[in-house]
Amino acid sequence: MTMMIGPNCVVSISYKLTNDQGEVLDASPEGETLTYLHGAAGIIPGLEKELTGKTAGDDYKAVITPEDGYGEYRPELIQQVPSDQFPNADQLQVGMQLTGQSENGPIVATVKDIAENIVTVDLNHPLAGMTLHFEGSIADVREATEEEISHGHVH
Ligand code: ZN
Repeated sequence: MTMMIGPNCVVSISYKLTNDQGEVLDASPEGETLTYLHGAAGIIPGLEKELTGKTAGDDYKAVITPEDGYGEYRPELIQQVPSDQFPNADQLQVGMQLTGQSENGPIVATVKDIAENIVTVDLNHPLAGMTLHFEGSIADVREATEEEISHGHVH
């Protein structure tokens, strides 16, 4: 029986992500797939929407606005932080991405500027404000187990 992608499906996809200029920003490694639980906010809403109703073997292509992707770019998320709040401030470099934990889950901060005692970081997601072009194919669709559904992720 062919299974259509919907809530509580475990889906494996290959993907290539490009920006408006056609530059490749990310891609699944050759022969590998990304596996996620559909309907559990494991991937961005726009891509989930595009994949709904498709089946294993289908190809997909989607143009996703920031609203359905990683959100609009918010200038207020550029913040100045005293460098003594970084455990390894002397190793920071402009362009570096730092990962950390906030009350609302994992965050990525990009170092924008380093001045005496002050580090400017950008807390926007690196793909915020961008229109995303996804394409790939669906390798597998299966029903999630009870445990996977209750945990909200794939085992
Ligand atoms: Zn689990």
